[in-house]
Amino acid sequence: MDPLTNKGTACTLEERRARGIDGLLPPRVESLAEQADRVLANVRARSGPLERYMCLCGVRDENETLFFRVLVDNPAELLPVVYTPTVGDACSRWSDIYERPRGLYLSAWQHRGRVREVLRNWPRTGAGIIVVTDGGRILGLGDLGVNGMGIPIGKLALYTACAGVPPALGLPITLDVGTDNAAVREHPLYLGERQPRLSGTRYDAFLEEFVEATQDVFPGVIVQFEDFNNASAFRLLGRYRDRLCCFNDDVQGTGAMGLAGLYSSGRITGTALREQRLLFVGAGEACLGMGGLVISAMQREGLSESEALARCLFVDSRGLVVASRTDLPDHKRRFAQDRAPVPDLAAAVEAFQPTTIIGACGQGGRFTEDVLAAMARLNERPVVFALSNPTSKAECTAEQAYAWTGGRAIFASGSPFPSVAHAGHVHVSGQGNNAFVFPGVGLGLLVAGTRRVTDEMFLAAAHALAGCVTVGELGGGRVFPAPARLREVSRAVATAVADVAFGAGMAARRRPPDLAAAVGAAMWEPMYS
Ligand code: NAD
Repeated sequence: MDPLTNKGTACTLEERRARGIDGLLPPRVESLAEQADRVLANVRARSGPLERYMCLCGVRDENETLFFRVLVDNPAELLPVVYTPTVGDACSRWSDIYERPRGLYLSAWQHRGRVREVLRNWPRTGAGIIVVTDGGRILGLGDLGVNGMGIPIGKLALYTACAGVPPALGLPITLDVGTDNAAVREHPLYLGERQPRLSGTRYDAFLEEFVEATQDVFPGVIVQFEDFNNASAFRLLGRYRDRLCCFNDDVQGTGAMGLAGLYSSGRITGTALREQRLLFVGAGEACLGMGGLVISAMQREGLSESEALARCLFVDSRGLVVASRTDLPDHKRRFAQDRAPVPDLAAAVEAFQPTTIIGACGQGGRFTEDVLAAMARLNERPVVFALSNPTSKAECTAEQAYAWTGGRAIFASGSPFPSVAHAGHVHVSGQGNNAFVFPGVGLGLLVAGTRRVTDEMFLAAAHALAGCVTVGELGGGRVFPAPARLREVSRAVATAVADVAFGAGMAARRRPPDLAAAVGAAMWEPMYS
């Protein structure tokens, strides 16, 4: 049975007879709600997150409507199972836990020169959104080769669960360009090519063949680049953003998520974006994506580019990103400040006096007690975003953020943390996750039939996301909406993105009279037909 149309025990008696499956199912015809109750009970009975992940994969392989019904109804509980943080464990062990195929694997050794032909093997009719990785930088876990396939699969599940993008439109792809992770490559069960990672012209030629093939086989398809290492990510985005409808969620989606968090924290502290001072810990895709969009947004608030730049300081693995450094690639050099290096992060806080510290460096525990205590000394409400995933890589835990700032931190993290009781107050922190952005962006692009993806669209997405945070949520210290509101948020983001596309004349479709209603109507609901 095709999992897109299978109903399992919800098949009526007439359908069973018509399909020749009479007797192959237990006698009682169940409702979708009853099936969902059983799935949820089964998932909860599993011993750990990875077991729950695999249980849900099994449901999805049989019946996508049921899988998405359970996900849509239980986002706070299950999105961390199908995506971060559990998807990190799943990718780390992908070749061990692999059971059934999903998505396309394109090998630079087997398929070079015939990528079009292989894309045509995709058994579903057409594709609207491709999420593609080369496994080069999976979450904060580094180069995992084809084990990274969990990421495009998980991202596309979020497109459907959060924004109602019909599951038939999603195509997950992993480009096997080898891996430089010897432990992964030499693992006896590794499922990819046992080759070192391609680079240079051979890598670029394979990517070019892939991109051209996507547009030939699925004309106008949206291509989302995901979890490439940062050198490739910035290069590919620069090369393709004006040639096709593509974006890099790690750079641009993270940018919009981070900017929305800053608008929201500014509502709590009463500080306009143009008055904030941001210390970014990390200078990779996530931090430079946020920095770039924040600088654009500050310019719209009246600052010059250099004034905006002076309010954003970056730290990478080698220290402050300053102009005197000779090791900076072009994509980082643009953000280098003219200031003296400092010995450590606590000294950077003292020297720069940030209102906000944002971590996306993939190094767990980077926000030490002295760093957060310094933030608390400088700010009545220090803003602390520990965005690295999975949980083990978070720059600090929620508990540490509140404990080391005397309970005054406005805290958000990439992976969810349980609520924290501190000095008689229960803090419920927000989850700063791209899941608030990219599903709505994708839906908005689809509704408008957009030809290109622009920074204006991500600025609009950030505004829309920030606008969804309620006064009640802000009062509780939450700068991102509750996960239960993901569909409502995605609809607002999609409407904002489509609005930009129509306004800028970049839409292939005609603008509907009521755009928000049209976006709502385009959202697929997991129900049996
Ligand atoms: P990246 O590899 O492009 O960049 C990592 C950066 O961190 C590099 O600039 C590196 O120099 C720097 N770094 C490494 N060690 C450091 C240290 N000790 N101190 C300071 N900087 C250091 O990776 P990325 O795509 O930017 O992602 C980084 C992390 O952010 C990952 O854990 C990822 O999961 C997370 N992330 C989270 C979200 C979210 O939605 N919450 C979105 C995007 C990325």
